[in-house]
Amino acid sequence: MRRLGIHSFVWTGGQTQEGLEMALEKSAEHGYRMIEFAYLQPEKFDLNRLSKKAKDLDIEIVVTMGLPAGADVSSEDKSSVAKGKALLSDAVKAVRDIGGIRLGGILYSMHGKYDRMPTEKGWLNSAEAIAETADVAKECGVQIVLEVVNRFESNLLNTTAQGLKFLKDTGRDDVYLHLDSFHMNIEEADPAGAIRLAGDKIAYYHIGENYRGYLGTGTVDFDQVFSALADIDYDRDIVFESFSSAIVDEGLSLACGIWRDTWTDNDSLAAHAKTFIELKWDEARRRHSTNAHP
Ligand code: MN
Repeated sequence: MRRLGIHSFVWTGGQTQEGLEMALEKSAEHGYRMIEFAYLQPEKFDLNRLSKKAKDLDIEIVVTMGLPAGADVSSEDKSSVAKGKALLSDAVKAVRDIGGIRLGGILYSMHGKYDRMPTEKGWLNSAEAIAETADVAKECGVQIVLEVVNRFESNLLNTTAQGLKFLKDTGRDDVYLHLDSFHMNIEEADPAGAIRLAGDKIAYYHIGENYRGYLGTGTVDFDQVFSALADIDYDRDIVFESFSSAIVDEGLSLACGIWRDTWTDNDSLAAHAKTFIELKWDEARRRHSTNAHP
């Protein structure tokens, strides 16, 4: 693993400058070296100040988002696709302006429950939009990663295999997958096998429990997840993602269906997650090297 990060929603709904600055400080205090901001609204914040603060704290910034219904690049409607492309391009520039390194999430479709099947034309529209976004991102020095999510949050990329096919269809070699143990636990027949299948196409990994609460208290088989990451010599970033109605945001919390408290004390949650992930990662690497060099 390169850097261990934490989602800003452990600290704040992200509505104010003070909230985001506090989130940076809290993350650093707990020893995390990456933070994820969701649905960053650049017009609301002093991006320079956030960028400088993050650098001073040696924290890297990643931004994630999903598209709204009227700007769905996987639509067959030309104006929706055009709006989505413009939104993605603006988002990439905001990531650059906040000194961020990566834009991830559901960049390829609406974030939400669809009431229809995806279409072939919509898939191709989306792949083309992501290819164009990757061009802008390259100029801005920002990496694009696509989060494969469960069926209730998109209808396009629900499995790693679909994600890999989609990457091919973008025709780009600089767009990667963003996988997540929470979503994989719902959709993959074999989450560990999916990680091994994706290999070096994974550039960002979300660690989340099946109900998005305390790691190790639910049904995700983290020994399997970390073993698979060790087997592919995963040397990129891992970010802890957990949501509770203790921290509410109008956009993401609603889209993700966060209707209850899965925790109330974010300090103990963050401390526990860091210890848990580092321990599981260390154990998996030891298993891997024992198996590789008997
Ligand atoms: Mn995620």
